[in-house]
Amino acid sequence: MSTKVFVSGATGFIARQTIKLLLSRGYKVVGSVRSSEKGEILKKSYGASFSYEIVEVLERDGAFDEALKKHPDVTIFLHTASPVTPFSTELEKNVLIPAISGTKYVLKSIYEYAPQITRVVVTSSWAAIIPVPDRFNPKFVGSEDIWNPITYEEAKQDSIHAYFGSKTFAEKAAWEFVEKNKPNFDLSTVNPVFVLGPQSKDEEVKDTLNVTAELVNSILKLNPKDEVPTLEGNFVDVRDVALAHVLAFEKEEAKGQRLVLVTERYSGQLVLDIIRKNFPELGDKLPVGVPGSKDGSNFAAPNDKKTRSILGFDRINLEKSVVDAVEQIQRVKA
Ligand code: NAP
Repeated sequence: MSTKVFVSGATGFIARQTIKLLLSRGYKVVGSVRSSEKGEILKKSYGASFSYEIVEVLERDGAFDEALKKHPDVTIFLHTASPVTPFSTELEKNVLIPAISGTKYVLKSIYEYAPQITRVVVTSSWAAIIPVPDRFNPKFVGSEDIWNPITYEEAKQDSIHAYFGSKTFAEKAAWEFVEKNKPNFDLSTVNPVFVLGPQSKDEEVKDTLNVTAELVNSILKLNPKDEVPTLEGNFVDVRDVALAHVLAFEKEEAKGQRLVLVTERYSGQLVLDIIRKNFPELGDKLPVGVPGSKDGSNFAAPNDKKTRSILGFDRINLEKSVVDAVEQIQRVKA
């Protein structure tokens, strides 16, 4: 019988690629979504091995109880749901509480109602590692052993701090839960940097994409005289993030580990350079910027040696990630 995996936040960019990969490896998947409309779209897309449960609000004690009771054969839980909103207001209510309480409550539900679950993977972030001001410090080296020292008060000051705080406190809450309750499951976290790459299916390409995937899409929408987006930093492809979620529970060595996922540097200019090189027909429609001028190297550097030795797979590079995303967008818009 196939192993059944629960994926919270099944509509997300990373979750969908993870679900696609899980199904291709023969797992059954139950996803949590916020409405039946969203669930039906996924069901149609992923077929008979996928089912969904509605969990409208993450930040409610017992939110996952019923969903877990209905699936006593789930043995793996991937908690990916969390707010990823750059311009949020009411930061505590909309970002911090859903992320932090959501993580605590989901683990409590698993502990109380799903003792058969043996592995839990929480999608954390590089944001739980790097102090907010050190994002722009090339001498700062982040790794699996480092924690963002942000305080809860600092996290409330703006949406960047709120996101970094939400990921830091949610991940800490997960490790503390395990330490305190000694549940039947082993915990691993996946801590990706900025995630790019294609959607799991062409039909998921919309005018505006998820916050990070939108970088490539937004560059394709530029006119020749527009400014090139100034975003830069470290990147990983979404398909590698999906694979890391799966290996995080398949591999013994990943038990109890934080897994940092990073491939190479990126910037808006580098993405544009890749598009201009690989899609010469778009040349006249896009700005040129200053080719090669920004390589992301003024950003903090990750050291992911430990994760690479645990997970052991080759990463998809920025060029392939961008080309695959652009080809998909072009295909859908043709
Ligand atoms: P995404 O596409 O925005 O997916 C977020 C998912 O979480 C969606 O399923 C969303 O549901 C759900 N969600 C958000 N707020 C919620 C709430 N209050 N209650 C219930 N569900 C909620 O983002 P993503 O990039 O795939 O991110 C997935 C995970 O990866 C997050 O934990 C994020 O912090 C982490 N991560 C992302 C990146 C990145 O660069 N993208 C990097 C590091 C870590 P709806 O679809 O219904 O809104």
